[in-house]
Amino acid sequence: MRFSKTVIPKLIGRLLPEERSRAHPRLELTNFGGNEVWKARCYRPENEEDVLEILNFHKKERIRPVGALHSWSGAPVCRSIMLDMSCFDSVETFPREDKLIARLGGGTSLQRALDVLHATTGHTFPVQGAISKQSIAGAISTATHGSGGPSLSHFVKGIRVAAYDPRNKRAKIYKYECGEELRAARCALGTLGVILSVDLETVPKYLVEETLVTRGSLAEVLREYERMPLSQFAYFPYRWDFLAYQRRAHIQRPLTSGEKIFGAFFAANNFLGTDILFHVLVKGALALGNSASRGLMHLAPKLALTGKTNIGPSHDILTMAHDLFQHEEMEVFIPERKLDQAIELLRYATSVFAGLDVEMTGPLVQALKNQELYDELQSHRGTYTQHYPFFFRYVHPEDDMLGMASGSQAYFSCSVFTYFGPDNRDRYYRFCSWLGRALHRIVDARFHWGKHVPLGHQELSRVYPEMPRFRELAQATDPNGVFRNDFVNEVLGFQ
Ligand SMILES: Cc1cc2nc3c(=O)[nH]c(=O)nc-3n(C[C@H](O)[C@H](O)[C@H](O)COP(=O)(O)OP(=O)(O)OC[C@H]3O[C@@H](n4cnc5c(N)ncnc54)[C@H](O)[C@@H]3O)c2cc1C
Repeated sequence: MRFSKTVIPKLIGRLLPEERSRAHPRLELTNFGGNEVWKARCYRPENEEDVLEILNFHKKERIRPVGALHSWSGAPVCRSIMLDMSCFDSVETFPREDKLIARLGGGTSLQRALDVLHATTGHTFPVQGAISKQSIAGAISTATHGSGGPSLSHFVKGIRVAAYDPRNKRAKIYKYECGEELRAARCALGTLGVILSVDLETVPKYLVEETLVTRGSLAEVLREYERMPLSQFAYFPYRWDFLAYQRRAHIQRPLTSGEKIFGAFFAANNFLGTDILFHVLVKGALALGNSASRGLMHLAPKLALTGKTNIGPSHDILTMAHDLFQHEEMEVFIPERKLDQAIELLRYATSVFAGLDVEMTGPLVQALKNQELYDELQSHRGTYTQHYPFFFRYVHPEDDMLGMASGSQAYFSCSVFTYFGPDNRDRYYRFCSWLGRALHRIVDARFHWGKHVPLGHQELSRVYPEMPRFRELAQATDPNGVFRNDFVNEVLGFQ
């Protein structure tokens, strides 16, 4: 059973604790990827008083607020008390200095927030990921991002959170609007408490121009970023060339009739050709075997509509129906200046795992040997065939403590997808484990907190210098660790 609104009882009025425990049976929950299934007692609080009451009543247990359960990692998993925050779906706007701020209830879906913003103001989100089904609190809690800007977390200007008062251990509401508390709360994996509302900076609506082009080398792809700063690109295994989605922003203006007609054609082509047909072919190739998957990767860029330019509202161009087919993803964040090295490693590892012969440069062989990863890689030869393109997005530095692009340098994120079913992903996880460790040790990679994270805090703390300070801040308003779970203990190192 999915996390369905119809089956989660509401917390109505002031139930006695005994009544409440009867009213909230344990429900089985499944995340989008189907890789996490667990049972928990679920509440759906209707207002802030309900949240405080639940926090006070369950202060010796574990509590996790969740959004759309669109994370693949264990971030939302909690076998004790779960809070469905979907009643917190308000959308208000107000000016602050020269910006328009959207105050969004923590459970508001990104799509609802955009619908209201677009209908009532001339503004939109400053960045846009591939889909808009997530809740705002869930999205910022794992630093959800697009390409050509920092993550959404960076644009959070204020946040209201229910957590504990360390003096009397009672629940209370904190408001963070500046300083290190705000920087911590912008991306906190649920450990700073229950997010009640988020103040998000918006930007005037804009258009995005997009042209798909094939490129033979990384240098060619990167050269065009200056002109096309919102671009993302796919890297095709076994062909080892690129399909760049060259994108740039334009000031909002009415579209011409020709642009509208062409836009509708593009949208239909993307939906039928990419979102549906391509994914049917990926699943079909998986059923047929490794050669079919490799063949499809050779064919795929030829199916793309290249060389034609489309222009339309940012949200229409930047999103896709990527949630039609269940899948799982690891997203690795590579410091911009080390992208070359990471791409070489990716190509080599993918080929060896697929059992193919490939040449590798001396320095990379040496680096793998130094890290004691070379022999292990050879032992995986022929055990896993990557069956989907790698996707790269450009993420600017962001001002938070734990976001994947926190700090002063930009990152390229690389998405590693699998379309194997949840019961058939062991070989994919072994591929991610080796690749993740190699990229972490050799190019200082980080990992998207909402996706498959193959490393623990002992390794990750090396690339997150503010992790110890983050833990101190989380402990200050949650001394009993109510807002922690196995996943955050593992990746953030809470004791
Ligand atoms: C098809 C698909 C496409 C995606 N595309 C992108 C993309 O383009 N870019 C990208 O960066 N990511 C992407 N993601 C990942 C996704 O954005 C993140 O995993 C996000 O965290 C999911 O949001 P959610 O509302 O489902 O939160 P959940 O998965 O339910 O929860 C995520 C975390 O947020 C916490 N949380 C949720 N609500 C609250 C609250 N009210 N208070 C405190 N903590 C809370 C949870 O405890 C948990 O730790 C995609 C995922 C899928 C399935």
